[in-house]
Amino acid sequence: MDNVKSLLAFIEKSPTAFHAVGNIASELGAFGAKRLNEGEKWELSAGESYYVTRNMSSVIAFTIPEDADSLRIIAAHSDSPSFKIKENAELAVRGKYTQLNVEKYGGMLFAPWFDRPLSVAGRVLVRTENGVEAKLIDIDRDLLVIPNVAIHMNREVNDGFKYNAQTDMMPLFGDETAKDGFKKLVAETAGVGEDDVLGNDLFLYPRIKGTVVGHDGEYILSPRLDDLECAWSGLRAFIGAEKPARGINMLCVFDNEEVGSGTKQGADSTFLYDVIKRLFIALGKSEEDLYRALAASFMLSADNAHAVHPNHPEKTDAENCVFMNDGIVIKFNANQRYTTDGVSAAFFHKLLKDKGIPFQHFANRSDAAGGGTLGNISGSHVSINTLDIGLAQLAMHSPCETAGAKDVDHMIGGMTAFYESHVAVGGDGEFFIG
Ligand code: ZN
Repeated sequence: MDNVKSLLAFIEKSPTAFHAVGNIASELGAFGAKRLNEGEKWELSAGESYYVTRNMSSVIAFTIPEDADSLRIIAAHSDSPSFKIKENAELAVRGKYTQLNVEKYGGMLFAPWFDRPLSVAGRVLVRTENGVEAKLIDIDRDLLVIPNVAIHMNREVNDGFKYNAQTDMMPLFGDETAKDGFKKLVAETAGVGEDDVLGNDLFLYPRIKGTVVGHDGEYILSPRLDDLECAWSGLRAFIGAEKPARGINMLCVFDNEEVGSGTKQGADSTFLYDVIKRLFIALGKSEEDLYRALAASFMLSADNAHAVHPNHPEKTDAENCVFMNDGIVIKFNANQRYTTDGVSAAFFHKLLKDKGIPFQHFANRSDAAGGGTLGNISGSHVSINTLDIGLAQLAMHSPCETAGAKDVDHMIGGMTAFYESHVAVGGDGEFFIG
């Protein structure tokens, strides 16, 4: 249960991808990992851990072994669906209300955003004597509400209602006196003058605190379980695993998975390949060493999965369906939206069976299109054996999601076993696993 408490505390202090990556970076720093900068020369030595961030919202950490003959990579994502505040941030309604002007970030469930306290957090770029500096801010109080339309004014709402992102989802910020107050509030929170705020990336977040529910406390209910649960479990495993003698342990937490990963810091960028290549250059290795290492490398792409819904079990495949608390989910898809194949599944099955860690298998209904995730996207830049895993959860992309309390330990255990394994390759399709 300690891990559940720590996970919920991590999620609570990580209202945006910037905060999540900032918190991961400080835990890596406390662990002794050294910060690298993409703009500086890298000098690396065996036995040490390092990390590098990009855009303050993606991070890659790695530990250098004596023999860098392969990579064990865990990837997860730092972002969650939310509403981003537009540059001209305020809207006036009939001269009496002040709303914030927001647009969708990612594909979320709209309904659970209504009638609950919301706040604003993110990054602001402020003028300094020498140029521009980024600061993370969190207004950190009950600030906004998106009010529902009363049933009396929308009698058909319970028969199905199509929400419009421009007309239905604007949060109420205050009365007419709140006009021009948002920029001021942002500047105050950043501790700078209003004119010194030159840019921003600000998002809404729900004020709900993560909690434990169920007859025996078997479920956790929290914002952003997708995918901070996997990102945080990966961090625990990275920090807790024994330092490897062979093979590089690497943790990647990418931003922008919810909007297709196609940014300079997303999984569909060169970030991962850039880091791997630079790492081999810094270690004085040849290009051939790099390609030999990639042939023996494995990646776990970790992103949560859909548990069987208690009200709608028919939404899932009859047999390849997963339940909360029943262990790590291994995801399959014939069209390779999930990267798992016979080889990567066999490798992971062996690892988990040897350690006695429970696992289960997920495939979409054959008549339903599922979502893709990080594995197949990053695979187009760094092509290695990959499998897609996650933890079973309900209400994915709601601002408050439900998952299994016992699964946190299952994931940390499976990821730790992965970091403590070693793979070498023989011929194509022949793996020596230690
Ligand atoms: Zn996800």
